[in-house]
Amino acid sequence: MIARAARALAVALSLVLGAVPCPSSAAQEGGALTQVRYVMGTLWTVEARGPHAEAGIEAAFAEVRRLDEALSTYRPESELSRVNREAARRWVSISAETMALLKRALAYAAESDGAFDPTVGPLVRAWGFKHLDYHKPDQQEIDRARAKVGFRSVTLDPLKGVRFAKPGMELDLGAIAKGYAVDRALAVLKRHGVLAARVDAGGNQGVWGPSPEGGAWHFGIKDPRAEGEVLGVVPLASGGVSTSGDAERGFWLDGVRYGHIVNSLTGWPVQGVLSVTVVAPTAEAADALSTTLYVLGPARGKAFLAGRPGCSALYVLPGGTEASYAIEREVSFPWMSWPR
Ligand code: AMP
Ligand code: MG
Repeated sequence: MIARAARALAVALSLVLGAVPCPSSAAQEGGALTQVRYVMGTLWTVEARGPHAEAGIEAAFAEVRRLDEALSTYRPESELSRVNREAARRWVSISAETMALLKRALAYAAESDGAFDPTVGPLVRAWGFKHLDYHKPDQQEIDRARAKVGFRSVTLDPLKGVRFAKPGMELDLGAIAKGYAVDRALAVLKRHGVLAARVDAGGNQGVWGPSPEGGAWHFGIKDPRAEGEVLGVVPLASGGVSTSGDAERGFWLDGVRYGHIVNSLTGWPVQGVLSVTVVAPTAEAADALSTTLYVLGPARGKAFLAGRPGCSALYVLPGGTEASYAIEREVSFPWMSWPR
């Protein structure tokens, strides 16, 4: 019964989520305005209700573009690209905002013992995940890239900025920046006086205020091995939800799936987890934690999540199994059904 209700809701949701129009579009429905645009290398959907929705959404997209201009490693003129070019030779000063984000990223790295590693860039590049020229590098190439990786070789100084301890290092905030940008977009919408808002940045989502139905918002958890299918639905009253996995960016070789999340200790893409979805009090935490838990795997992931209030995780594992950790009851995954 519950499973059937979940499936019906899931299908409805997948239709909503699947109805993604072209890079820039607007729709007004039942007092809610929705805009879809392409920023930070992914489709963003921003939905808001209330008389200030239109101005709020415009300002939210301006905020996301501002962050993309500072943090993108695809833009040679960004603050982060400048750091990557110069920090092995000298201190590079950065904005207080970027400094604070880097500090939080390095804290996740330290707490997870390098499972989350924002210096993984050279390895991501070696496997072709950066420019989508996927290929399996030989072990020598992996070792060469690994020598340029290691969060402990990054030093932050509040006055001097960022410094790398070895040449060839590269910061990649791909696993945390979108979540941060979702939080910032929501903060801007709130400041504009919207009544409620939802921001979705390709797997990183956040909400503020009541859903159009009046209570929690609902998010479909995609089936990582069946395009367009939803495994279940997770309710979210506030904060963020994020999914990390190998489905979107990765390649098959000899029956093995190589996804874009790389273990910086081994130099190889993580195997053994199809996806992990994390609910957390902020979209940034959900983003950083979903990547971290993906690398840690279910057993170590559970331990990592313990003691983090308001956080839950759901792993989708090979063979139709799941491991679900609801550390706090109110953010559990009551609608999951598996196997279908
Ligand atoms: P996400 O989709 O949030 O899990 O982030 C994945 C992206 O983060 C990848 O495309 C890489 O740019 C980067 N990344 C890959 N492996 C790691 C890792 N172990 N720690 C931190 N970032 C990573
Ligand atoms: Mg992430």
